[in-house]
Amino acid sequence: MNKAKINAIFQIFSDNNPHPKTELESVNNYTLLVAVVLSAQATDVGVNKATRGLFKVADTPEKMLKLGEDGLKSYIKTIGLFNAKAKNVIALSKKLVEEYNSEVPEDFEKLKSLPGVGVKTANVVLNCAFGHPTIAVDTHVFRVSNRIGLVKTKTADATGDKLLKVIPKEWQMHAHHWLILHGRYICKARKPECYRCPIIALCEYDKKVLQK
Ligand code: SF4
Repeated sequence: MNKAKINAIFQIFSDNNPHPKTELESVNNYTLLVAVVLSAQATDVGVNKATRGLFKVADTPEKMLKLGEDGLKSYIKTIGLFNAKAKNVIALSKKLVEEYNSEVPEDFEKLKSLPGVGVKTANVVLNCAFGHPTIAVDTHVFRVSNRIGLVKTKTADATGDKLLKVIPKEWQMHAHHWLILHGRYICKARKPECYRCPIIALCEYDKKVLQK
């Protein structure tokens, strides 16, 4: 896809939603990190339902450790893979207390060294908590970017790298959210709603769905 088209797509995303935000609820950088860890293979809505109660009692690593793994599980048992996620949240809280003065580090490698934190989570935290222009690739970002012709990639990691190359700097800060929201609400996996899509004239997908 040429640069003019890419610019036009992000200009439309920006005009429609100038300040896109994560739909995950949090009250500080630590709870954002926990929410992102809990959101793997779960919906933001489902995670928010669980964390509203949880973050009232545990909004710091110390309080999470005090709550303990079983206490934590009682809040998040409606979220998929909650046993493994509880273990990771407790382990990462311990590491934050012991190695990072209870602060979430503003560093990709340090974030990635935390239990349960992979490339995607580290990039989401750097972007949402610290304002770094990273592009975390989840299922929506991967699908939408390839479908509309921004990139042609086979893996999430390759997609993130390529997106950073093709998306002009001015759009990189919010590109992750715009692509997620577009994929979540319009360019849906099974049946994209092309008939109401604001970027239909620019999209290169050849199987557009033009009727409801
Ligand atoms: S036109 Fe259809 S396939 Fe293209 S971005 Fe819009 S919803 Fe997705």
